[in-house]
Amino acid sequence: MTDRRVVLEGRGISKTYAEGGERVTVLRGVDLRVRQGEMVALVGASGSGKSTLLHVLGLLDQPSAGEVLLDGQAAARFNEKQRSLARNRSLGFVYQFHHLLAEFSALDNVAMPLIVRRMDRAQARRAAAEMLEQVGLGQRATHHPGQLSGGERQRVALARALVTRPLCVLADEPTGNLDRHTAREVFGLLKRLNQDLDMAFVIVTHDAELAALADRQLKMADGLLAEKVSA
Ligand code: ADP
Ligand code: MG
Repeated sequence: MTDRRVVLEGRGISKTYAEGGERVTVLRGVDLRVRQGEMVALVGASGSGKSTLLHVLGLLDQPSAGEVLLDGQAAARFNEKQRSLARNRSLGFVYQFHHLLAEFSALDNVAMPLIVRRMDRAQARRAAAEMLEQVGLGQRATHHPGQLSGGERQRVALARALVTRPLCVLADEPTGNLDRHTAREVFGLLKRLNQDLDMAFVIVTHDAELAALADRQLKMADGLLAEKVSA
């Protein structure tokens, strides 16, 4: 894995929130390198800063200090347009809640990121149909989110994150809202897609059993990340 290119890197990432005159330091110089095709699990207590780190790595929030490099390029140099372009082209996001649009079919939800980047509609739909096949929902393309189970909705959300073929997918507790059996299924799917599509994944999870499926586990504590050596 160490010979593969670094697709996403955080160098000395610090983050301090200043709210109502009170300053809370959440990240204290986090270093992280994610290589192409790697699956990294991010664990740690609630409130330890996992989501904060994911937001910074995903160029959704600025660090107070340090820098993020996306495919070797310093994100701090991007203007607003370049940032959103980089996000759309190189990153995929999955959250605990699916955030699918209720009035659109599964197919159109998945096609959305491609349409946003002005891909031809028919072409976008073809790519979306292919990605729905990959997550095992080829037969559900015309269904709306309300007609799908929780696990199926999360698989559609996954297809939407992957349809642009990002370098790295950032997932914040993607199975946190699912029952154990479904969580295991979705996580197994994440793992398979990670291997088949050669995309990197950074996955925040509370589930030790699922985290153990990753190539590496990193634990957030006291504002720092440490390699978790498996027992
Ligand atoms: P985790 O995802 O590990 O549960 P978070 O990154 O969400 O942790 O939060 C880490 C800490 O930062 C918490 O104490 C939280 O209250 C604080 N925090 C998160 N976002 C903000 C914000 N926008 N403003 C102020 N404090 C925040
Ligand atoms: Mg969180």
